[in-house]
Amino acid sequence: MDALKPYAAHEEQSLGRRYEEEKAPYRGEFQRDRDRIIHSTGFRRLVYKTQVFVNHEGDLYRTRLTHSLEVSQIGRTVACALGFNESLTEAICLAHDLGHTPFGHAGQDALNACMTDYGGFEHNLQSLRVVDELEAKYANFPGLNLTYETREGILKHCSKKNARELGRIGKRFLERKQPGLEAQLADISDTIAYNNHDVDDGFRAGLLSLEQLCEEPLFDEQYSIVQAEHPELEDRRLIYEIIRRMINLVVTDLIEQTALRLDDLKPSSIDDVRVQKAAIVGLSDEVSDKHLSLKGFLHKNLYQHEKVLRMVGEAKAMIELLFSRYMDDPQQMPAEFAQRAGRDDKARVVADYIAGMTDRFAISEHERLNKGNGALFR
Ligand code: MG
Repeated sequence: MDALKPYAAHEEQSLGRRYEEEKAPYRGEFQRDRDRIIHSTGFRRLVYKTQVFVNHEGDLYRTRLTHSLEVSQIGRTVACALGFNESLTEAICLAHDLGHTPFGHAGQDALNACMTDYGGFEHNLQSLRVVDELEAKYANFPGLNLTYETREGILKHCSKKNARELGRIGKRFLERKQPGLEAQLADISDTIAYNNHDVDDGFRAGLLSLEQLCEEPLFDEQYSIVQAEHPELEDRRLIYEIIRRMINLVVTDLIEQTALRLDDLKPSSIDDVRVQKAAIVGLSDEVSDKHLSLKGFLHKNLYQHEKVLRMVGEAKAMIELLFSRYMDDPQQMPAEFAQRAGRDDKARVVADYIAGMTDRFAISEHERLNKGNGALFR
């Protein structure tokens, strides 16, 4: 493992926390961010939130929590290989999905639609809101008071309108600057993780077949190699063996390609990284094409699968009903939210409450508020 390189995030150069705090005696600042994320309520809820499959569909599918752990595993491996800050990478990876609603993207789209007249809803922005405002754990400040660098990594995308309202953390979206390398790495680690684990989950669920998967070059190449080496392997182990080789291939390419770019550009600090025209962390064109193709394949064959779409329809109906019931009667929410709804922007408080729900809780709230008018997900 290499030591921290000059282009990595160095604690001494950190742009700091929103509320000043004394340093911890035995931990670095980015380690402390990671620890705060692990101890947060939002992080614990991820275990009961959908990745692709609703949590009650089976115990073996990825949830947002196991997804986040896989993202962090990939991110940390690459960070160590390239001399990036491992703790910062880990903190960003573990926090990147904290703002996700129940029922995955279906939930986010439904909540966004409900919020059209009230400023919209972006899960990514919500992740930042969770760590900046909504976690209520510390006596001296709201949120987790994380460092600028961790927050910069959590906010992956942002509309210009929202960026203007966010102040310093939103500035790079207006100035077209890059985030630090650890943030770039967490972003691509997310894609690598879901592209691979969704193949596993989709196959396990019987929604993707081996024949279909072999249409994809990334899968098919590894399939041929594994078949040649182990012709007798049964399907489950075959798939797993292919997936682990696919991850290995993509991650190796990511490390090598990023090393080449770093060698070429020679950024001497995180600020040097931030002023680059494009992201430095990335895949070679060849692997990137195959990786994107697999992403498109999953979109078409798994995320748009009739069985998944049925779940999407039910999730939308459920979020819409919850939103309108809480808007009509904020007292249906717990006291702290009902009080906030009286003081603050009511729709935003309702969105915060819904976004924080686990799949299971949203289902039971829907049942309670829909009073005998038919339960969903049965
Ligand atoms: Mg993710």
